[in-house]
This record gives sequence, structure tokens and C-alpha cells, in this order.
Amino acid sequence: MDLIKYLEFKEKLRNELENELSPESIERARKDPHARRYPRPCGMTIHTGIGCTYSCTYCYIYDMGFPHKVQPYPLSDKELLYALTLNPYVVLGPGGTMLAMGSVTEPFLPETRIGLSSILKFLVHSVIHCKLVASPYSMTSI
Ligand code: SF4
Repeated sequence: MDLIKYLEFKEKLRNELENELSPESIERARKDPHARRYPRPCGMTIHTGIGCTYSCTYCYIYDMGFPHKVQPYPLSDKELLYALTLNPYVVLGPGGTMLAMGSVTEPFLPETRIGLSSILKFLVHSVIHCKLVASPYSMTSI
């Protein structure tokens, strides 16, 4: 991995999003935990929503205090992505930090999947645009 290239990509993405987002959005994203928390062993957890209606018996989210109903995450997809570009512990791009989508919700619920698909589409587009090369060993990374 060419770390300089990846850092330049992250900075470019951050600048692009900064030009698109309102000052209020930027402030909201800066204060969000996605902008500063460490990735977990499974990857950087990205919350496209909170809670889940399915109530699977083996699910851990209810033990963590999350509800049996679902709500979209309070950040928009672009705010969420912007927060990730601010996080010093996250490397975006193929072979970079693994991304664990959902983690405190089911990311394919109608309320949560819009954020999921927007983030994935935007990242894939950005990676292609910046000509970052995918590693064959990083199928779970973007
Ligand atoms: S988050 Fe996933 S595992 Fe947990 S209750 Fe929802 S569908 Fe089941």
C-alpha cells in the first residue's frame, strides 16, 4: 500500500465533502464518534442506523441497550462519510481499514440501507476516480 497516496485520497475526499456540506453538517459530523473512534477487530464500525426490529435471539445489540425498533442514524450519508475522512485511525481505500457496516442495526432494513448503499457507492466511485488499486486480499474493504 502506498500510504501517501491513500492519505492524499482521504484528504481529497474530505475537501470535496467540505465543499458540499453546510457548516451545520460539518459541525455535526465533527462531533460524531465516527470522526474519532478506533476501529474494532472486525473493522471500523459504521452505523447506518440504530436498533433493529428482528429481535434475533443471538443478537448482542439489545444487551448493549439498543432498542427493538429501528431508526436511521442521525447523520446523513455524506456527513457520515465526511466524519470517516476526519478519523485519524481510518485508512480509506482498497486494502485500507476494513469497514463493518451496521453493527448496531441491520444495514439492509429499509430505514438503514439508503445510508449503506450511498456510502458504498460514493466510496467505490471515489476509489475508482482516484485510481487506487484493489488488493486481492481485501474483499471486505472498499
Ligand atoms: S441486528 Fe441483525 S442479528 Fe441483530 S436482531 Fe437485527 S437482524 Fe438480527
